[in-house]
Order: sequence, then structure tokens, then C-alpha cells
Amino acid sequence: MIVAKTKEEIELMREAALVVSKTLGEVAKAVKPGVTSLELDKIAEECIRDQGAIPGFLGLYDFPNTLCMSPNSQVVHGIPNDTPLVEGDIISIDCGAIKNDFYGDHAYTFAIGEIAPETQKLLEVTKESLYVGIREFKLGNRVGDVGFAIQKYCEAHGYGVVRELVGHGLGRKMHEDPEMPNYGKRGRGKKFIEGMVVAIEPMINLGTQRIKQHRDGWTITTLDNKPSAHFEHDVAIVDGKPELLSTFAYIYDALGIESNEEEEFRQNALVL
Ligand code: MG
Ligand code: MG
Repeated sequence: MIVAKTKEEIELMREAALVVSKTLGEVAKAVKPGVTSLELDKIAEECIRDQGAIPGFLGLYDFPNTLCMSPNSQVVHGIPNDTPLVEGDIISIDCGAIKNDFYGDHAYTFAIGEIAPETQKLLEVTKESLYVGIREFKLGNRVGDVGFAIQKYCEAHGYGVVRELVGHGLGRKMHEDPEMPNYGKRGRGKKFIEGMVVAIEPMINLGTQRIKQHRDGWTITTLDNKPSAHFEHDVAIVDGKPELLSTFAYIYDALGIESNEEEEFRQNALVL
């Protein structure tokens, strides 16, 4: 069952989302060659606790850390370790936090220094597909409309759209109804309702859509070991339209990137 949130609850959820946004911004400052994912994990845990929040992933389904850290061919759910990142790597960082008894949950894929042009393109297209999907998250549409839009956009670039892992409703629980696949058929699936909040999160592979799970029970990798990207926003339906609760602005500040994508999205001016 989809749990709609009141406007007040959506404001509380925005605070939870912003805890994660700020945390990813702090992490972004330290994402450089030589840093380990365990070091980044410590930065994130401290930053979340400093904001009076609780790491949302730590202990959830027995996950051992604050961040899911998935480098290169890892899709999602990678466990932080002490292997230093090197120039040319990418790393998908997924972060969750609990504030006001609500979850925030979003993700960004970072480039470590200079990366291969085809990998750079994968990151760009995956992030674009996130907004393409979010645009369809509005009253009158259904779950399949979001998935269809993301799938079409990514497959047009020849990428593999992961099937086994999906976005989700978000609220007092990390995973609420409905499931939000990154593939689908127009007009199919559950109907969107006012006040619902979801995490939309394309997981897109440079090569095959197929994945494998590691023996650690967590890490998911592409079957062909080619790179995979993951971008995630928390979004509510307010007055019938999608409203971003999370922001990548802190990441862009940290990395010195000029981006108007969220502003353009809000003003309906983002052309993709
Ligand atoms: Mg996430
Ligand atoms: Mg999520």
C-alpha cells in the first residue's frame, strides 16, 4: 500500500533528505585518488551524526556500514574497504539517514580524476535519465511511465538497464510501496497519488544489463565487468507535480561544478 505524506511530513522528509545531501557534499570534498572507501564512510557517519541524524543503512538488513560504496563494475551495495581509489576509477556512493523518524536516501556516481570518455558519457546519461524519469512522476501517471522513460533514454545510448534492482517508496521505512523499476511499459503499474514520496534511482550499465551477486551477500557487479552508474533523488508529488527533496548542490559546490540542472528542472526548462 502506498503511504501518502501530509505537507508537514514532506517538510520533515526534506530535512532527512538534506542530511544526506550535505553528507554527500562532505564526502565529495574527500573523493580523490588515494582515499579509501572506509575513510569516506567514517566522514559520512560523523557528518550524519553531527546533524542530529542516524545513519540509515548501518545495520539495516545487517549492512555493516554507513555508505554503500560501489566502484567501477560494482552496481550497488558495495561494502567500504581499505583499497585506495585511483585515478580513472568511478565510485557510486549511496547514503541513507534517519531524521525526524523519516529516511533520506540518495546516491551519486563520482569520477576519480580523469576517466575514460565512454565512462564519462555513461555517468552523464545516467544522471540525465534520473531527471527524465522524475519528470514522469506526477499525478495522472503510473509506475510504468517512470520506468519506461528511463529505460528508453538509456537504451537509446546502448546501455544495459538493470532489472533486478529498483527504486522504491520512501518514508518512515526505507523501502515502502511502490517498487519503482527503471524499466516498464507506459500506463502500467500503480497509480501515483498526491503526497507520495519515492526514491528514483537508475542503475545503468555500460554493457550488459545482467548482474551477479558476490559471496559477501551484498555486492552486485555487472556480469561483463564493465562500469555501472547510479544516481538517486528523493522526490515527492506536491500539487500534482514532482518536487525534489534531495539536492546534488552540495556535491557540485565541493567539486567546483557549475550546474543549474535542478533549477532548470524546477522551472521545467531542463531540456533532455
Ligand atoms: Mg540509495
Ligand atoms: Mg534507494
